[in-house]
Amino acid sequence: MGRKFFVGGNWKCNGTNEEVKKIISTLNAGDVPSQDVVEVVVSPPFVFLPLTKGSLRSDFHVAAQNCWIKKGGAYTGEISAEMLVNLDIPWVILGHSERRLILGESNEFVGDKVAYALSQGLKVIACVGETLEQRESGSTLEVVAAQTKAIADRVSDWTNVVVAYEPVWAIGTGKVATPAQAQEVHAELRKWLHANISPEVAASTRIIYGGSVNGANCKELAAQADVDGFLVGGASLKPEFIDIIKSAE
Ligand code: PEP
Repeated sequence: MGRKFFVGGNWKCNGTNEEVKKIISTLNAGDVPSQDVVEVVVSPPFVFLPLTKGSLRSDFHVAAQNCWIKKGGAYTGEISAEMLVNLDIPWVILGHSERRLILGESNEFVGDKVAYALSQGLKVIACVGETLEQRESGSTLEVVAAQTKAIADRVSDWTNVVVAYEPVWAIGTGKVATPAQAQEVHAELRKWLHANISPEVAASTRIIYGGSVNGANCKELAAQADVDGFLVGGASLKPEFIDIIKSAE
C-alpha cells in the first residue's frame, strides 16, 4: 500500500501576528509538488489557527499543537477537540516530547488524548521518541514501543494516525539522527505495528521523522525506505521548509 509523503511544520510557541503572516505568504508562494505526492500540514500556536486557516493556500492543511483529553468544560486554559472540529481544523499534534517532558504527560495520558481526538473526527500526529539517556542505555526500542502501545491499547482504527518518531536528543539541538539511525527505529516501529496490530496497519501507517530536519539533510533522510516524511520544528519557520516539502519527490 502506498504511503503518501507527509511534511508537518510545528511552529511551537513562536510568532507574532506579523511574523505569521510573513511565513504564510512564503508558504503560499512556494513551488511544491502536488497534493498527490505530498501532504503538508502546518501547526501554528492556537491563537493563530484562524488566521492561518483563513489565509493559507488550500493544498496545505492546519494542525493544532495539542488538545484536551476529553470533552471541554471546566478546564481553564485548555482547548478541546470539539473546538478544533468546530473551527474546521483537521489535524492535531499529540504527545510531543516537550509536553511529555516539561508538562509531565504520561504514555497513558497521551494515549487517552489520541483516542479522544480521533473519536471526535480529528486526524492525529502522535509523537514518540527516546531521550539521550534512554538511547545510551540501549532502551530506545523499548521506549518507543511502550509509547506506541499506550496508543494502540486505546485506538482500533489507525487510518487517521501519523506516527512521528522524534528522538528527544535531536529536537531543536541541530543534532540530526543519521539516516541509518532513523531508518533503524522506523523499521522497528513498523515491525511492532505488524506484530501487535496488523500487517495492513504496518503497511499503511505513515511513520515520519522529526529532529533537526533542514533543507540540507532532508533528502538523504527522505530516501530511507521507512521514512514517510517529516515533522519539522525550527526550519518550518523559514523559507527552507519549501525545500523540505520538495524532498517528497
Ligand atoms: C519538533 O519540535 O517537532 C522538532 C522536530 O523540532 P526541530 O525540527 O527544531 O528539531
